[in-house]
Amino acid sequence: MAWDFSTEPEFEEKLAWMREFVREEIFPFETLSLSHDAMVDAVKPLQDEVKRQGLWASHLPPELGGGGFGQLRLGLMHEILGQTVYGPWVFGNNAPDSGNAELLAVGIENSGREGHRKQWLEPLLAGTMRSAFSMTEPGAGADPTMISTTAVRDGDEWVIDGHKWFTSNGSVADFLIVMAVTNPDVHPYAGCSMIVVPADAPGVDIVRDVPTMEDPVEHYGKFGGHAEIIYREVRVPYDNLIGNEGEGFLLAQNRLGPGRIHHCMRWLGQSKRAFDMLCERAVSRTTHKTTLAEKQTVQNWVADSLAEMTAARLMTLYAAWKMDREGASAARVEIAMIKYYGAGVLYNVIDRSIQVHGSLGFSTDLPLESMYRAARAARIYDGPDEVHKVTVARHTLKLYTPVEVPTEHVPTRRLAAKERFAHLLEAATANA
Ligand SMILES: Cc1cc2nc3c(=O)[nH]c(=O)nc-3n(C[C@H](O)[C@H](O)[C@H](O)COP(=O)(O)OP(=O)(O)OC[C@H]3O[C@@H](n4cnc5c(N)ncnc54)[C@H](O)[C@@H]3O)c2cc1C
Repeated sequence: MAWDFSTEPEFEEKLAWMREFVREEIFPFETLSLSHDAMVDAVKPLQDEVKRQGLWASHLPPELGGGGFGQLRLGLMHEILGQTVYGPWVFGNNAPDSGNAELLAVGIENSGREGHRKQWLEPLLAGTMRSAFSMTEPGAGADPTMISTTAVRDGDEWVIDGHKWFTSNGSVADFLIVMAVTNPDVHPYAGCSMIVVPADAPGVDIVRDVPTMEDPVEHYGKFGGHAEIIYREVRVPYDNLIGNEGEGFLLAQNRLGPGRIHHCMRWLGQSKRAFDMLCERAVSRTTHKTTLAEKQTVQNWVADSLAEMTAARLMTLYAAWKMDREGASAARVEIAMIKYYGAGVLYNVIDRSIQVHGSLGFSTDLPLESMYRAARAARIYDGPDEVHKVTVARHTLKLYTPVEVPTEHVPTRRLAAKERFAHLLEAATANA
């Protein structure tokens, strides 16, 4: 098996173009407090340029209008786009729309419900519709088998009842993908389904965008908000089912695997930005007669941050490479590992960068404080650290069998070695 850490020159050229474009054309928007509608107008010419470059919605296969890049190249791309919250939006692959488009595509393949293509998938890809993924409930989060939202079939319709929250972009979405129990008589892994619900369907009550650490002031209808939603006897056509009945968890798994790799690469983009700020400040600020760069603690932060980011990057690229070769299921442990490891690195690097900047780092004169608040959520969304660690530990421990005596027990090994090499020992004793 070859190990190759190089990027094809043609793709490297695209990456170089993206680096420049993101820094020069997208970063400036961060400093303006534009309304959502103004931002939609402002990013339009940038989105057109991305389309001209053939980089729009690259997460999808060419037959669906994407670049067919595969996870490894997508990962490298997300590392650049993730430096700014607007990057993925301008490139047509922002969460949750990108994952939802993949879900719809897989659903069409599984069910043959071609109508979804024109109705939901194509507008989503074109950026003329927005979507949200409505799975988490106040009572069912890290353990989604506790989901209590139900969808009951009534003739040609589903009737949906339930209470969700943290449906990101729910208050600005045109449609919501709702995970609901459709068969309560079997294990949830086989009894949940995903159903498309138009946001304006009667009975959809978008209660609020939950104020969070990321955005403590309550706004309604904000891109990036996390909506609390009550579904009261919401009726939608039966054909709004994605895939087949009972495939909810299977589809969720397919959606979350690549999504996590992209999250991790976006975090690396954020980490690198915080790291660049850390280093720039270290060589610029003099205190107690030397620059910060000459203090050993700061040198430790630089060295530790670089090592951690490099490790996270290699782990993420390895997970992407494995997924491209063997599929999401085979890369499950690698994906779980980068989810908690990458989130920790992101958090640590931003924290050190804030520390190096002192009060300036704590102020809103730098983007670090908002990056820090957003980074905290990375340890929770798409499954908290602890759950991913359980996955890694379980799979790893399955490779081991219990023993009476530890395999490495020296006295036991010595006895075995004495028996095996008795002739040598006898010869050695005889010669003595
Ligand atoms: C910013 C943000 C955006 C989100 N966007 C979406 C979205 O678009 N759609 C959506 O459906 N959901 C979304 N979520 C919800 C997210 O997926 C859940 O928060 C997550 O799955 C954890 O569920 P919970 O918050 O209910 O925590 P709980 O289930 O209450 O868990 C709380 C804590 O318990 C501990 N814990 C749980 N299980 C275990 C275990 N097995 N072993 C050890 N410890 C454990 C962990 O420390 C965990 O943090 C979002 C969340 C955030 C913060």
